Amino acid sequence: MITSPVRQGAFDVVDAPSMDGLRACVHCGICLPQCPTYRVLGEEMDSPRGRVYLMRAAAEGRAELTPGLARHLDLCLGCRACETACPSGVPFGQLLEATRAQLDRKRVRARESAHAMLEWALSIFPHPDRLGALLWPLRLYQASGLRKLVRASGILAPFKRLQAMDALLPRVLPGASSLPELIPARGRARGRAALLTGCVQRFFFPEINLATARLLSAAGWEVVVPRGQGCCGALHLHAGRLDEFRAMARSLMAALGRDVDIVVTNAAGCGSALKEYGHWLGDGGAERFAGLVKDISEVLVDADLPLGELRETVTYHDACHLAHGQKVRAQPRELLRRIPGVTLVELTDSDLCCGSAGVYNLLEPEMAAELGRRKLERIRETGARIVAAGNPGCIMQISQQALEAGLALEVMHPVTLLSRALREP
Ligand code: SF4
Ligand code: SF4
Repeated sequence: MITSPVRQGAFDVVDAPSMDGLRACVHCGICLPQCPTYRVLGEEMDSPRGRVYLMRAAAEGRAELTPGLARHLDLCLGCRACETACPSGVPFGQLLEATRAQLDRKRVRARESAHAMLEWALSIFPHPDRLGALLWPLRLYQASGLRKLVRASGILAPFKRLQAMDALLPRVLPGASSLPELIPARGRARGRAALLTGCVQRFFFPEINLATARLLSAAGWEVVVPRGQGCCGALHLHAGRLDEFRAMARSLMAALGRDVDIVVTNAAGCGSALKEYGHWLGDGGAERFAGLVKDISEVLVDADLPLGELRETVTYHDACHLAHGQKVRAQPRELLRRIPGVTLVELTDSDLCCGSAGVYNLLEPEMAAELGRRKLERIRETGARIVAAGNPGCIMQISQQALEAGLALEVMHPVTLLSRALREP
């Protein structure tokens, strides 16, 4: 927990953004071309430098926390591309999350409708039981033809956020497939791995969890899939709901962190949040737990998997919270290149956000759609038939853009492709 002995300008002392972090910005502007919202809007206050300026002005008591200030921070994707670019080490993600916590506590809101959608998303997505209960009505909505009717009628057009939510629904909703609680290792034993099954992942992309467990086992890891594991709290963290985030983090650590050598995630957003538990919880236990966390690509890159041939042209999109949040870029590419027959074509601006960013595409559908269209254009240039991305949000966002544009594209997690290539001994 970040605390300060005195009030910090317009901020409360509890969980105030770090003054050192804010002052680290030397206004050089190197981050500007890397910022997706600055690229689209060209506005200084919608750039990293402008946002740091606003946060610092509030911290120094030169600005109030107003809806106008909140609007510039709402438009930020939290993608952290600015952190990668910044030569001064400005910890933008942590500054943003701490400032959002202050805005939330003081109920400073730029748009009430976006706030209502955020409340709804936070009440559903991080709760596996509620998300699971939603699946049946959603299936009915699709299978009955109601969804087709709704889309054809254009009835949702005035309600941009509802329209975005409808568009993001996968065409076929799979059922949650439950993995056994323990999957034995095959071959040379490496240790014991706890698998985070994720909230969205377990219901919308169960095949990714299956592939992850299968590959881990083939790589020599005994896989534990603890029952009753909850949410990592990433959405709450990004929304500045720090108390709820901390409670979720503590409960997840208790569920996953016992008697294991590593904790594995296959969702970039979750992995990035887990690796920051030490910072936000500020105790040794959380630090130790964060040190156990690995993205699946970081684990598999050290394994010698028996892979058969797949003749495919593939491109790779860097999920922001993998590339910028966890600095994991080389490992997924290396794994894809190891599949015999796969040609990996680099994607221009691969690490520029696709517009998904947690629930950003529900809260800011226009900006998200513009970024999605730009991403799809870059993908189209590669000529690849498959796009690999290590985050469920990116998979949904790019799939939806491809569907709307009529582009025949398979969007999948790298482990799905690796699992297709895996030859059992
Ligand atoms: S986090 Fe992303 S959107 Fe926000 S200021 Fe940084 S680069 Fe721009
Ligand atoms: S690159 Fe870093 S130091 Fe330069 S303007 Fe951006 S945030 Fe500030």
